[in-house]
Amino acid sequence: MKKSKKNTSIVNKSAVRIVVFGVVQGVGFRPFIYRLAHKLHYTGWVKNIGFGVEIHLESKTKTDFKDFLNDLQETKPPLSQIEEIILEPAAFLDLKDFTIKKTKEGKSFVFISPDISVCENCYQEMMNAVDRRHHYPFINCTDCGPRYTIVKSLPYDRKETTMESFAMCEDCRNEYVDPLDRRYHAQPIACPICGPQIHLAHAKTGRKIKGGIRKTTSLIKEGKILAVKGLGGFHLICHALNHQAVKRLRQIKERKTKPLALMARNLEIIEKYASVSPAERELLVSARRPIVLLKKKKDIRGISPHLDELGFMLPYTPLHYLLLEHLDLIVATSSNKKDAPIMKDEEEGIDALCDYILSHDRPIHMRADDSVIKVVDEQPVFIRRARGYVPYPQRVHKDLSSPRHILALGGELKDTISVYKNGYVVTSQFLGDLDEYQNFKYFEETIQHLTRLFEVKPELIVADLHPNFHSTRYAQKSGLPYLQVQHHFAHILAPLLEHKIPPHKKVLGVSLDGYGYGEDGNAWGGEFLIADYSSYQRFAHFQYVPLPGGDLAAKQPWRMALSYLMDAFGSEIPDVKALKKVRKNNIKGVMHMVEQGINSPLTSSCGRLFDAVSFLAGTSPLEVEFEVKAPMRLESAADEGTQQSYGFSIQSQSLPFQISFAKTIRSVVQDLGQNVKTSSISSKFHNTITRIIASIAEKAKKEHRIDTVVFVGGVFLNKKLLHRATAALKKQGFSVLRPVNYSPNDESLSIGQIAYALQKERNNR
Ligand SMILES: [Zn+2]
Ligand SMILES: [Zn+2]
Repeated sequence: MKKSKKNTSIVNKSAVRIVVFGVVQGVGFRPFIYRLAHKLHYTGWVKNIGFGVEIHLESKTKTDFKDFLNDLQETKPPLSQIEEIILEPAAFLDLKDFTIKKTKEGKSFVFISPDISVCENCYQEMMNAVDRRHHYPFINCTDCGPRYTIVKSLPYDRKETTMESFAMCEDCRNEYVDPLDRRYHAQPIACPICGPQIHLAHAKTGRKIKGGIRKTTSLIKEGKILAVKGLGGFHLICHALNHQAVKRLRQIKERKTKPLALMARNLEIIEKYASVSPAERELLVSARRPIVLLKKKKDIRGISPHLDELGFMLPYTPLHYLLLEHLDLIVATSSNKKDAPIMKDEEEGIDALCDYILSHDRPIHMRADDSVIKVVDEQPVFIRRARGYVPYPQRVHKDLSSPRHILALGGELKDTISVYKNGYVVTSQFLGDLDEYQNFKYFEETIQHLTRLFEVKPELIVADLHPNFHSTRYAQKSGLPYLQVQHHFAHILAPLLEHKIPPHKKVLGVSLDGYGYGEDGNAWGGEFLIADYSSYQRFAHFQYVPLPGGDLAAKQPWRMALSYLMDAFGSEIPDVKALKKVRKNNIKGVMHMVEQGINSPLTSSCGRLFDAVSFLAGTSPLEVEFEVKAPMRLESAADEGTQQSYGFSIQSQSLPFQISFAKTIRSVVQDLGQNVKTSSISSKFHNTITRIIASIAEKAKKEHRIDTVVFVGGVFLNKKLLHRATAALKKQGFSVLRPVNYSPNDESLSIGQIAYALQKERNNR
């Protein structure tokens, strides 16, 4: 929080004007101010203005209102975020009371809160046997409950939410209109008399079943698979320690080994299975309740095979709390078939995925998955940013502000969209891969939702450079002017925008991922770009190697292993144990493809290099279920103690410099021949990438006086690499920037695209 630069101790006879900027609308801020003024016996008024609230405060006695300002900052509503407070003298109007003035909708950027976990007050009421909302699964207040997923449009008012069809009972209405009540203007306010109700049904027959949550709990204990409607969609739930149930859930979801998320009743249960650092604990118990990836202490069969982490979350809706009252640990995974978006309505085919359905009659307007985070160096790294974080606005550097509205479409895989208006960017939840038809529909749904919610009328669209991405085609068909931005450049611009780096500051962007379309038409992915918001220079990259079979190479890591072996040894490739699993004819075929350049585009992909080494080291299967599986297993295998690394070479006669891994691969093969442990091969490889980053950064410092390095791209979800590379560069005196509130993977492309468009606008002014 930034305090006002202005002097906050001005003594005024008896009246002041206070303007509070930040996330202070739709979060119970005005009633909070009302209650505070009441408590301290001040008169005046409060109203919403563009991205803030304005307060007029007066007192018949001489005061500096310090008590008010202190309380304002120390007891503000949990969902609010104060960016700046301005205080100035005002005329004394001799007002008789304190009022909340009606908001007129104007040009302002009106904030909508993310969905927030049930607060302590509501939880206590729900557990209180004599409270009128005892065991009511939809209890909420001004400080907690559903928001983003139930709002249809602005202004944020009950009739614009999916609660519109529930008429408030007299008790609820009295709470709703009383500014001194903690449910004053809580739009989703409800109780057992007037609010939503749950219902349990048999999935195949649709037959209703009595017993509610109690019955649901016992069905889970019996090993059944349940679909449970939450905030942003249905979860598929089963008992986490019932291996047969977990196995069946995996079959239903068509998910062989990809980790499943767990929901535990409390922290003590989580700590039985995983270590929890203070920063991880803080995230787990925060009101946003993400899934946090934690280091395994004790394995749970079938949940996260071959990996050293488990993903845990705590209950976040009242319904989850009630469900886990008599259960310790459940699997709670998104209800979708492979590669499709999370289901939000029963009609979407939920019955095919479970034995029983626990649903309710409060519709979900916008779907959103659970967010997934890990902690590296005490800071969050987002693997997926969605429920609980969306639609938090991101302020841009003041010099980048533009009067135009902008829509950015991201890339193709793990997509998000971002909208820009009046100095703020709002980034959508994770939308999945757009090459899947249903995800593309979800992408369109979300564009509609965000532009409507924030009253954005796009005048400019930004898309990726790839000519065949669905998002690029959407931009072309929009009829609006559009810009295209290179993938790895957009990656680098995202944290520049997030951390409000000023225009003209040049950084070295280390952009390491699986694939992005390059200016030369090749598949880029191991990129070192010297960049500012306007442009970039490709300073260095991983040397191109053939990608035999194109997309198929990402699914079959042995193809990349062969490609790198041929790069290091020519056509006389050595005998490597891992290759014995591959059919001789297939090896021959791929070698022929590489030699003749048949269906073998060139790539500098860092992800594919990790695939190759993972396969050679024996940590990857022949075929992978999802793109990052082989790299994740290689990371899991790496030990912490090994300091050594492998050789590499940098061709630095001309720009861009090229990094060759021929030496690295030869040394890996040598280690394999000498039966060096997988853990140390993996660790040495991680150290090699770290050394490469460090030496390119040194060259950038020498030649371009670069002092700031940015780490982006999906490869930086790798905890060990991120930690080691950050430490190495800090030791060399660099500042290291990385995304903290957004994911380093392709989810952040749309933010970077907005940054580029804003700079372009600025250059045109
Ligand atoms: Zn509450
Ligand atoms: Zn009611």
